[in-house]
Amino acid sequence: MASRLHGLGTTIFAEMSALAVATGSINLGQGFPDTDGPASIAEAAARAILEGRGNQYPPGPGIPQLRRAITDHQADWYRLDYDPDTEVLVTAGATEAIAAALLGLVDPGDEVIAFEPYYDSYAACIAMAGGVRVPATLRPPTGSQPRWHPDLDALAAAISSRTKVLLINSPHNPTGMVLNDAELRRIALLAIEHDLIVITDEVYEHLVFEGSHIPMATLPGMRERTVCISSAGKTFSFTGWKIGWVTAPAQLVAAVRTAKQFLTYVSGGPFQYAVAEALRLPGDYYCELRESLRARRDLLAEGLARIGFGVSVTEGTYFITTDIRPLGVQDGLAFCRALPERCGVVAIPNAVFYDDKDAGAAFVRFTFCKKTEVLDEALERLAVLAERA
Ligand SMILES: *Cc1c(COP(=O)(O)O)cnc(C)c1O
Repeated sequence: MASRLHGLGTTIFAEMSALAVATGSINLGQGFPDTDGPASIAEAAARAILEGRGNQYPPGPGIPQLRRAITDHQADWYRLDYDPDTEVLVTAGATEAIAAALLGLVDPGDEVIAFEPYYDSYAACIAMAGGVRVPATLRPPTGSQPRWHPDLDALAAAISSRTKVLLINSPHNPTGMVLNDAELRRIALLAIEHDLIVITDEVYEHLVFEGSHIPMATLPGMRERTVCISSAGKTFSFTGWKIGWVTAPAQLVAAVRTAKQFLTYVSGGPFQYAVAEALRLPGDYYCELRESLRARRDLLAEGLARIGFGVSVTEGTYFITTDIRPLGVQDGLAFCRALPERCGVVAIPNAVFYDDKDAGAAFVRFTFCKKTEVLDEALERLAVLAERA
């Protein structure tokens, strides 16, 4: 294996999903919905295939209808104006967008600062680009800050003359943190002061339960330096379709496109037609999705708290990050490896998303993007932890 990939191993999801199957456990590890998105959108994809739309290589930047639907979405939701011909790129999910953005913008030795815990592809993609990852460790909830939050003084201190990119994920997986206006403003000022590019992963933009999602590109001076990434997977509950996108100024899109054309070139032709329709769903759709997930967030959060987990408010995403120390245990990795056998439930140890393993040791992530009856059953199974605590 190439040295730049040393230490990356296989993802925790492979290990934990295999354990789930072997033990017949409920998998609250990996974040994919167990209910598909709107039938009308699935039908649009089927129709596109049967009518011969997108079955052959679609255009490199994405089909025009989808690029236009993406720019209309940015304008309608955030008053962000992008040119559908030069400032949009359709990708194989947000995952490829992240990879292509890093490969297209980072030179070997450039430093990329990202919040840890990281989404699991960030470390690998920074490494494949030859970049150096520099963590800015998120702080767990405290009495005065009862939410996961960034330490912006530490972020400022992490910036050096070699820093090229800030890679920002909000709403944040796995902590559920949503950056607020003041935090975004401070990050924006740092980016401008040090002339940094900001890559933002906004795949949970429509899953915010407290406050609202503010795209970094809407802040003064930020549109010109921000590569905004999102995707249809989480917003439309079709995570297998892998249609993502980048919106950014033409020069930055050109850099991302140059890398992307040699990764997949194009992908998901018929799904691009369906996602173009999905982005035109009425506002009610987004509201119902959010409220449905909010109800399941509350169900899981209250249930886990009753059992004895430390639970703080999840402001957005599919996930609750819990503190296991109130249960009398310290080591999240050992806890998660034993949990399927012990309770028949799979969760993910946050430590795998950290360079600083100690900082993440006591935290464990559960997803709530599952049916209510599945969450109820998982809580029933986890209740034995309360009896033993
Ligand atoms: C799910 C997820 C992605 C990947 O999105 P795809 O469109 O499925 O590739 C990227 N970033 C975060 C934070 C995610 O949770």
